[in-house]
Amino acid sequence: MIAGDKMSNNNNNTAGNMVVNIAQVDTAKLKIVFDDGFENTLFVRDIRLKCPCAQCVDEMTGKILLVSKQVPLDIYPQQITPIGNYALRFEWSDGHSTGLFTYKLLREIAEDKNSDR
Ligand SMILES: [Zn+2]
Repeated sequence: MIAGDKMSNNNNNTAGNMVVNIAQVDTAKLKIVFDDGFENTLFVRDIRLKCPCAQCVDEMTGKILLVSKQVPLDIYPQQITPIGNYALRFEWSDGHSTGLFTYKLLREIAEDKNSDR
């Protein structure tokens, strides 16, 4: 549920850009909760496919280099480490750990999934 307080805090861009809780639902799913109360349950593989690192996305063009077929269907995060208070670093079961998922990116992924179907 999203609080409908669009009237207030128009100048405050930070609301919703913090992850306040992240919980493993099962090996394939993570529930992510943001500071404005928005939450969504994401497939961890979908998060892996959005990896923003230089190996997965061309830094110059933004073209996605990662081939989804190469990501195992049963991939899961072995470890999730907070970086400062703006990002999470995932260490994936396929050995990939170079991508930093900023809260902003996680929010984009979460909202994208929510509007799916
Ligand atoms: Zn990557």
